[in-house]
Amino acid sequence: EGRNDHKDLIAADARHVLHPWADLSAMSDEDALVVQDAKGVHVQDSEGKTYLDAIGGMWCMTVGYGRDELVDAMADQARKMTYYTPFGDVSSEPAARLAQKLAELSPGDLNRVHFTTCGSTAIDSAVRIAHYYHASQGQPERRHVLSRKNAYHGSTYLAASLCGKAADRTLFQYEKDFVHHLSSPGYDADIAEESSEQRLAELLAEMEAKIEELGPETVAAFVAEPILASGGVLVPPEGYQKATRELCAKHGILYISDEVVTGFGRLGHFFASEVRFGIVPDMIITAKGITSGYQPLGAVLISDRIADAIGESAPENKPVFSNGYTYSGHPVACATALKNIEIMEREDIPGHVREVGPYFMKRLRELTDLPIVYTVRGDHLMACVECWTGEEAGPTAKNMALAQRVDSYCQSAGLLVRPYENLCILSPPLIVGRAQIDKIVTILEDA
Ligand code: PLP
Repeated sequence: EGRNDHKDLIAADARHVLHPWADLSAMSDEDALVVQDAKGVHVQDSEGKTYLDAIGGMWCMTVGYGRDELVDAMADQARKMTYYTPFGDVSSEPAARLAQKLAELSPGDLNRVHFTTCGSTAIDSAVRIAHYYHASQGQPERRHVLSRKNAYHGSTYLAASLCGKAADRTLFQYEKDFVHHLSSPGYDADIAEESSEQRLAELLAEMEAKIEELGPETVAAFVAEPILASGGVLVPPEGYQKATRELCAKHGILYISDEVVTGFGRLGHFFASEVRFGIVPDMIITAKGITSGYQPLGAVLISDRIADAIGESAPENKPVFSNGYTYSGHPVACATALKNIEIMEREDIPGHVREVGPYFMKRLRELTDLPIVYTVRGDHLMACVECWTGEEAGPTAKNMALAQRVDSYCQSAGLLVRPYENLCILSPPLIVGRAQIDKIVTILEDA
């Protein structure tokens, strides 16, 4: 009976769902995974098979699946007041309390919160805020936005335009007028031919040259993940975040830090910008782990300096900041985020990540001795294993096929890792323990 249910589900899915980021040639795949149950770090499929989820949903699972406390918080808020418009000066208790809490957790003077529905809409909103801010300060010519190759910032048209993977640009019409891509800033000491200092100097020279070429007075913002996540867990050279932040400040360019993945504990802190990288950005983008994936929510955290300047210089004839969504700061999502933060603080989940994160990386790095592993890189609970056949490194057809085989083996052995080009990407739920880390490494090693 279970098998028939499974077949019905797969058939309905294949016929009616256009999946996000799906390989269209494999849409009626009989082996599609239908996840029906989840608890802690494990998920179960429609045939009853259990997997250790080393993908963490999609970078978003922090406190683990199936937490009754979170479900109760969602239900309580839904019963009390499910939804009302957030537009204008209408607020809700969960949104106001969450904004206050985020201001407390975020660095420096980032005390103003603009809620959205996900990471992509938060990125779009941040760029709109940057443009609005500059125009309100009498500098409407500041419109160019800098991003990097291999960046991932989301899937709305503007966020997607900021993404830097050539492979994802097929058949789309991206914004080319004001979006510019600098080089991918990843630096992997194990395979690099140059020193970290040399790489940093090159990246800074390129950025400075681009700003000069465009004209510093025309550049609005730089959007950057502190560590590039979906582009292949690319860790910039030491000092990169601080130096680029200073370069932006020197030219009046707003620094927008995309902490959709690096925030909410994945690097061991609620926000990594200040504690890990020594910067206070002008804006921070957050989503995913803010609700531990239990509800869709995104937010732009904005410095008082920017928010106050916008408020003070609102044009008299049109004083509306015309950006926002029907579900911005949805009460159920905000109540979920508040409970999620309460659990993370009570159980000191960021502290747990600071403790197990180095162990995770140390154990994973043992895999570099294997002939099909080109390199292993990452930071705390975001990592990837890069595969190669020993001939040419990078996302060649052979290396991608090899990574696929590793991922398929892992799945058959009860471990979910995320296949991406020739990489196996890992971002387990933040509650992962040492024994589970050992299991992840053992299955990968067998594969
Ligand atoms: N920014 C980063 C760094 C991401 O990894 C993602 C999603 O993976 C996004 C933004 C977009 O977030 P969402 O998928 O919630 O729109």
